[in-house]
Amino acid sequence: MSASRPEIKASAKLPAIVAILRRRDSGEFGNANCPHCGADGRYVYTFLCEDGLVRGAMQGCLKLFPRAKNAHHAARLVAEAFKREQEARENNRPLAAWWKAMVAAAQAFQAAVETEGFSRDRLNAFYIEVLDWERKRQAWLSKKGYTRKRW
Ligand SMILES: [Zn+2]
Repeated sequence: MSASRPEIKASAKLPAIVAILRRRDSGEFGNANCPHCGADGRYVYTFLCEDGLVRGAMQGCLKLFPRAKNAHHAARLVAEAFKREQEARENNRPLAAWWKAMVAAAQAFQAAVETEGFSRDRLNAFYIEVLDWERKRQAWLSKKGYTRKRW
């Protein structure tokens, strides 16, 4: 999207990922198809790109998409939140409030982009919300005496 960013390799032509929204497991027999290239596989990732569009790809193709560098920390947190949410659902366990809030923030952001369009302000507000929940999580962890997880 950004005209100022130099295109240095073929993969740089793909839009940068700003957040992983979902990971779908189609089972060990690989019954899913990659939305990007059509190959058979097991895990399909749904992710939000910097142009505000939601795309899908298998793990292998996911690596072809560049990552939004300025959003690295928040994007990884959102990815972790979706992973935790899936694990909680599969194991019938409750999900911590901050992970729940990050998932909800990503879904709200995605819905807002779909209905009202993408904007940097909207994206930044989403990240600020995610980082705010991360601060709450870290505060809780240090209060409980857990080691900080580095991102
Ligand atoms: Zn693919």
